[in-house]
Amino acid sequence: MKKGSLSINSENIFPVIKKWLYSDHDIFVRELISNGCDAVTKLKKLSLMGEYEEDGKPFRIDVIVSPTDKTIQFIDNGIGMTEEEVDKYINEIAFSGASAFLEQYKDKATEEQIIGHFGLGFYSAFMVADKVTIETRSYKEDEDAVFWECENGTDYKMKKSMKSDRGTVITLYLNEDSTEFANEYRIKEVIEKYCSFMPVEIYFTNADTPVEDAKTATVDVDAKEVDTEENNDAEKSDAAEAGDGAEKTADAADKKEEEKKEPEGPKPLNTTTPLWAKHPNDCTDEEYKEFYRKVFHDYKEPLFWIHLNMDYPFNLKGILYFPKINTQYDKLEGTIKLYNNQVFVADNIKEVIPEFLMLLKGCIDCPDLPLNVSRSALQNDGFVKKISDYITKKVADKLTGMYKVHKEDYEKYWDDINPFIKFGCLKDEKFLEKMKDAVIFKNLKGEYTTLKDYLEAGKEKYENKVFYVTDPVAQSQYINMFKNEEMDALYMDQTIDSPFITLLEQKNENVHFYRIDADLTDNFVGEELSEETVKEYTDSLTETFKKALGVENITIKVESLKNPDISSLITLSEESRRMQEMMKMYGMAGMNFDADMFGGKGETLVLNSNNDLVKYVLDNKDGEHTDDICCQLYDLAVLANRPLAPEAMTRFVARSNRLLTVLTK
Ligand code: ADP
Ligand code: MG
Repeated sequence: MKKGSLSINSENIFPVIKKWLYSDHDIFVRELISNGCDAVTKLKKLSLMGEYEEDGKPFRIDVIVSPTDKTIQFIDNGIGMTEEEVDKYINEIAFSGASAFLEQYKDKATEEQIIGHFGLGFYSAFMVADKVTIETRSYKEDEDAVFWECENGTDYKMKKSMKSDRGTVITLYLNEDSTEFANEYRIKEVIEKYCSFMPVEIYFTNADTPVEDAKTATVDVDAKEVDTEENNDAEKSDAAEAGDGAEKTADAADKKEEEKKEPEGPKPLNTTTPLWAKHPNDCTDEEYKEFYRKVFHDYKEPLFWIHLNMDYPFNLKGILYFPKINTQYDKLEGTIKLYNNQVFVADNIKEVIPEFLMLLKGCIDCPDLPLNVSRSALQNDGFVKKISDYITKKVADKLTGMYKVHKEDYEKYWDDINPFIKFGCLKDEKFLEKMKDAVIFKNLKGEYTTLKDYLEAGKEKYENKVFYVTDPVAQSQYINMFKNEEMDALYMDQTIDSPFITLLEQKNENVHFYRIDADLTDNFVGEELSEETVKEYTDSLTETFKKALGVENITIKVESLKNPDISSLITLSEESRRMQEMMKMYGMAGMNFDADMFGGKGETLVLNSNNDLVKYVLDNKDGEHTDDICCQLYDLAVLANRPLAPEAMTRFVARSNRLLTVLTK
């Protein structure tokens, strides 16, 4: 027997490893299973090179837990290790790796800076185990099997073993804080998280489930199957006779369902060939949807997807899905799972995945990633940036391609994907550059148009002005006026539209956006009034309204609008409104702009001198109903814009009743 101390530093190393190296203790599962996969891959390579002849037994990894013994075993039938190799790869290398790690760690202040691969994967076992043993037999026929044992990660013992079959068994004796991992459901959950797509089949056994029971269970299943089949037939004929088939057939279907759930023999926990690894030409729509459901547990179908598949200048495969979202209720929140050779690394790694792409759902596998020890932090070098740029470019290509070739689909998806595209344009200059001609807007006719086409169509009527609608209900009066004048406006009613408008104005000099109620263009005005008339009307109406409303500040504008049915309107200058919105966003609301306070807010009350009510007010400054009419005209104009404040609403209702009563007299 050989004995030794792993390293003089080891007492210092383990607390450090435990604390810094892996923030998630569960990753020992990934490290040990991926070592098993590596061992299988190596042997397969040797076989391809003719250095080893396969025995026909399938390669596999077994995970066996014993809740009573508090142990976990990881078993593979891969390449195995000779005594020399255990010495070299476990006793020496790992610890020189650990020393190197410590060496670097000393000078570095933060976890993020711990970079480089130290080959410490195996030792992650000591995060959860007091004692770890290795029993291994190399594929090399004439080598003895080896037993290795190490307690507390400091001293090891090594001796010959009786292990007769090729491969490696790692046994973890869990420490008191980590017994959770001996729980079948917990460990399966961790395996699912990290190992769902590892390239070797992984089988699970709970050692505490008696083998006898398992056997009987299998027999049971068989018996049941026969049973139910008979029942089914019987029920079918019954149903036909009795004429109440529906219920019974449903019953039988239920039983069928149950049967399906019974295991037909051990199944691996993982899928060894994830869909992204297949060539896009070999994948069906159904497979893409199925994969999406399985990985993201989202039962709404994705809108469409992008299959990334490249070998040069780096290796990258993956599938990105555009999820169906309801922008009103769902949070815009996706998940991009990052894999390194089918081994899960982490979700949403910001160095590799551009921020706006994290609104999507997908898997990216990049075997060339420069990962650090903990695999979840990345070297932030040029290479990683290139990966990120490539993914962005591919997404933009797919979208612009669809815009050019399948415009109908693109328009159909637009409502769902536009927040994503706009966010991408705001976040990423290159994405904006590629996408800018494929950004579309819904117009008042419900058709899609580009900014360019909108401006072209409105050249005569509203040169370089873009009118937009944020609330089709509140702004309906203005929308109707626009329609009557055959003017167009664009719907921009998403939260993201406000910063997006700012971006568009920055990128398109001379183009200015106005909410549809910001101002009235000359298009709505009929015969022009003389300057004196305007002044006379304005002065008179201002005085009357001030008195009626009981306010000091009011901005009134008199227009002779073509449509005599319009009495009063409120316009709010684009600038003031944007300022108010900004203040609201920064939590400065309530400062100086009470819902009904007039003046100082850029609000203008537009009165149509072509309307009978306005004419009445002009002609009857002191009429019996003039005050009520003024208040009513004001409230109606406000109502078309925003809700009235509670007291104003109460007054409005009382006044409306009063005015209606006049009709009865
Ligand atoms: P890495 O996997 O990055 O090399 P590890 O600490 O995980 O670092 O493993 C160290 C070495 O131990 C491996 O490179 C391999 O040579 C050997 N090893 C670990 N587990 C196994 C195994 N199950 N079968 C064969 N060799 C193994
Ligand atoms: Mg490893």
